[in-house]
Amino acid sequence: EAKRLGRNRVERYSDHLKTRNLIIKRTGDAILKSLADDDFTAYYQPQFDAHTLEINGVEALARWMHPERGIQPPAAFLDIAENLNVVAQIDARVLDHALLQLSRWRAADLGIERVSVNISAQRLFDENLISRLEQLDLIPGSVSFELLESISFDDTSHAVAASIERLRKLGIAIEIDDFGTGYASILSLLKLSPSRLKIDRELVGPVVDNPAQRRLIASIVDIARTFGIGIVAEGVETMEHVAILRDLGCHTLQGYALARPMDAQSLIEFAKQHRVKQDEMLLMRA
Ligand code: C2E
Ligand code: MG
Ligand code: MG
Ligand code: MG
Repeated sequence: EAKRLGRNRVERYSDHLKTRNLIIKRTGDAILKSLADDDFTAYYQPQFDAHTLEINGVEALARWMHPERGIQPPAAFLDIAENLNVVAQIDARVLDHALLQLSRWRAADLGIERVSVNISAQRLFDENLISRLEQLDLIPGSVSFELLESISFDDTSHAVAASIERLRKLGIAIEIDDFGTGYASILSLLKLSPSRLKIDRELVGPVVDNPAQRRLIASIVDIARTFGIGIVAEGVETMEHVAILRDLGCHTLQGYALARPMDAQSLIEFAKQHRVKQDEMLLMRA
């Protein structure tokens, strides 16, 4: 009896694997088709100056316009895209969308002067990317690349440093994403001379209830300041977080408390309204 049950379990497990593999295969095919159909786009999440609450930049976040399921976040496709080796292609689409939007924001005089894009480690060495960027004549400081701390800087540190140096010559700023949750040593991160560290939301979340966590953020801010690096706090979910993180010295805040990621048109509306609100606040103070 035990044997029979065991065999059933094994069969059920292999059924489960088959279904899983089928889903992965189907999703992979759909991703490839969507790349061909240009169905990847970006949402934009504003970032705010912690003191004035003005928008001081925007992060572009990949979205898949799935033909049946609608807008999908990276969790729905990034791993599978990684296995298919097409993350670089998705990054490229997001960058194109982001650069186009940046020129629209500038033309509309919205006060949004910077866009950050997430870049997979493999893309850092992409000759096509770098030579295309070289032809673009970017305004220095208007584009940042967010690198995940989990990319292994140590194995490839020389090659990474050389690529980053070329990007920096083009006026592209480097930011370390999800800081505090990756495996890289602080030393290897500082060697990249990032412009900003983005403190991961896992570290940011607990600051409200936990004094030790507040001291941790304060120490990170302190280290960053010593090296002339800016701090962005991610996952700022309540107005209480806003006040605490500002008082801890974070320059820039990003999170649901202030704005969610939104499509390009909604961002323009949001930025206009935000400006009106800010002007009203200034008038009230005067
Ligand atoms: P990330 O770069 O750390 O981006 C922040 C993520 O946190 C976004 O999720 C954003 O929607 C979410 N978020 C923002 N504010 C809050 C908040 O207050 N609370 C909570 N709980 N979440 C918040 P999203 O858009 O699902 O992206 C997930 C991750 O996928 C990104 O994390 C980034 O690592 C990756 N990713 C996104 N776009 C791209 C891309 O174009 N290329 C590559 N290679 N990776 C991307
Ligand atoms: Mg990011
Ligand atoms: Mg992050
Ligand atoms: Mg993240």
